[in-house]
Amino acid sequence: MLDDETADDMLRRGYSRRQLAGIATVFGIGAVSAMSGRPAWASAGTPDPAPAAKVRINANECWTGPLTPGAAAAAAIIASSNRYAPHDERGEFLRAVAMVEGVPTDHIAPWPGSSDPLCRAVVTFCSPTRGLVTADPTFELAGRTADWLGAPVKRVPLTRDFSHDVRAMLAADPAAGLYYICTPNNPTGTITPLEDIEWLIANKPPGSMVLVDEAYTHFAGVPTASYMVSAGKSVIVMRTFSKIFGMAGMRMGYIMTQPEIIAKLMRYDGGMQSGALPLPSLACATASLTASDLIAARRKEMQEARGLALDHLKKHGIAVLPTQANMFMVDWKTKSAKEMQSAFRSQSVEIGRSWPIWPTISRVTVGSMAEMSAFCAALDTAWT
Ligand code: PLP
Repeated sequence: MLDDETADDMLRRGYSRRQLAGIATVFGIGAVSAMSGRPAWASAGTPDPAPAAKVRINANECWTGPLTPGAAAAAAIIASSNRYAPHDERGEFLRAVAMVEGVPTDHIAPWPGSSDPLCRAVVTFCSPTRGLVTADPTFELAGRTADWLGAPVKRVPLTRDFSHDVRAMLAADPAAGLYYICTPNNPTGTITPLEDIEWLIANKPPGSMVLVDEAYTHFAGVPTASYMVSAGKSVIVMRTFSKIFGMAGMRMGYIMTQPEIIAKLMRYDGGMQSGALPLPSLACATASLTASDLIAARRKEMQEARGLALDHLKKHGIAVLPTQANMFMVDWKTKSAKEMQSAFRSQSVEIGRSWPIWPTISRVTVGSMAEMSAFCAALDTAWT
């Protein structure tokens, strides 16, 4: 249930009373990402073909499960899960994030994955009178949430080097409520320079927010935007454990931002989704986050498997966009991405989809070395 102050604020921003009730209900049951469109892990009512495939390189998941210390910590805590909090698991998680990121603990909020805080940020900063600016192509959940709310959406093409065109994004809607930057970007795997993000923060309109989604940052191993949070900037930096940490099914993520922004994001459900996290997920995340050598080793493994696939595509003369993450975009040029997806599917290899702006380009997730070898073998048959 929304408190009076939150409801008044939302009505002032152009929401109808009917929308208020709907928003409060979906946040209360943790279903907002499902309501606003297909969440990353679910299919839209039609059977998902991926589970039937031998090789699943379509959904940007990790090819393997949690890091060993994370899996051990999750297993160990099950025996004491009769308690809501056998020790101070939430505090331990916050302290681990603070240590790794250099951000104070009251600037961090965990969530079961990052889809929920992503949708919340759109609800909080956009409205029927304040829009969203997002890139094209990019991860679509922010855009879908804004469409669901009836907020105006501007979709701005990437630059020639596939970073976010922050100047064009600001020009597209100089009074927007939220500017969404995904870096490395899904689906291209490309980075937007930190100085461009700083420029956008310095030039955005008052009362708006920049959301930096760093879901794939560990795969790139580049400096991140978290220092902007400790510098007091008006930014939300968002992370998930669904990618390099191999925990998509465990649902863990966090945001870093100013404490008053965290309070604003929590007011729809009194912090319920953030406060009630499954202990195995919390314990696994805490133990994984600090395992820097294992993270680096996993990144290297991904780079080697990606290199194998990219070399093979090159041998066929097939164009691939540059990438720094666990996904790459293949431009078939003369064939549609849909056609190629079917050609791979018939060989039990499930590759990713295309984005409407680029119908001949498929996103392929980097799997294990064995999976990428299977991708190469399937390509030899599919590319005839
Ligand atoms: N952000 C990006 C860029 C993603 O690609 C995804 C999932 O694929 C998410 C956020 C949401 O992931 P989750 O809710 O599993 O944390």
